[in-house]
Amino acid sequence: MGSHLCDLLLDKGHEVICIDNLVTGDSRNIDHVKSDKFTYLNHDITKSIYFGDKIDYIFHLGSPASPIDYLDLPIQTLKVGALGTYNMLGLAKEQDARFLLASTSEVYGDPLVNPQPEDYWGNVNPIGPRGVYDEAKRYAEAITMAYHRYHVVDTRIVRIFNTYGSRMRAGDGRVVPNFINQALCGEDITVYGDGSQTRSFCYVSDLIDGIYRLMMSDFVEPVNIGNPDEMSVMEFAKKVIEITLSDSRIIFKKLPVDDPKVRRPDIGRAKDVLGWEPEVGLDEGLMGTVEYFRES
Ligand code: UDP
Repeated sequence: MGSHLCDLLLDKGHEVICIDNLVTGDSRNIDHVKSDKFTYLNHDITKSIYFGDKIDYIFHLGSPASPIDYLDLPIQTLKVGALGTYNMLGLAKEQDARFLLASTSEVYGDPLVNPQPEDYWGNVNPIGPRGVYDEAKRYAEAITMAYHRYHVVDTRIVRIFNTYGSRMRAGDGRVVPNFINQALCGEDITVYGDGSQTRSFCYVSDLIDGIYRLMMSDFVEPVNIGNPDEMSVMEFAKKVIEITLSDSRIIFKKLPVDDPKVRRPDIGRAKDVLGWEPEVGLDEGLMGTVEYFRES
């Protein structure tokens, strides 16, 4: 997502400083960027950073985001949500910059309300394995609002729902790259549990457009950005087989602990406040993503 955001910002004429310690990212995702308005810094944002030049906007997207990554990197995930967010808010305060936090649908946990509106407080297990991500992001939202209220930092919070598209790591472990790569290699498609759990998949260009609109708006409360087209994981597996023309079989594996049973964004607020709604349907988005994985 970060590299797609860099592309959009450069297209719009901004100067961009991209910071990543590549713990889950890949510098090949920015290899194509040739602009002299672009700088890349390898830095871990849990350590402080200062800039002499003026910064106007900070998009804080830094965190492992795939369940297998944050289960592998639990302490780093908690640190980047807490210390990383604290450092980036400190930078925003010092620079008088506008700050946007990339939060997540995981703040709703295993939701008891479907679809999830922003005023739903969620159902999170703080001590479960996913708690390291969910609680880090909930803390990140809390400190963002505290900096807004007490230091008058101009803040935005986007709650991102399942997003997919090019430049995802093949071994990232999330359902979209897993199923596509399994289908392309003719391997078994691994559905966790009975596949009745639901997700709603948003194409990356829609997501980035929503994030940019939110940054440029004057809206401080959290905004869900995601595609409300909800389907079961089983239906999604069949869709991937259909689009890739694969003869892979579907097999079942154990459902991860605290895996949310349903997830679908209520995007009423994004429509009202940002005039945003997704434009890319699943078939179109998946075809582009499959093409990317075929070529990489
Ligand atoms: N999933 C699956 N097979 C896989 C990877 C994921 O059935 O190979 C399921 C997972 O259990 C979850 C959904 O797909 O119900 C989405 O998982 P993902 O890891 O993409 O992210 P999440 O939405 O859980 O954060």
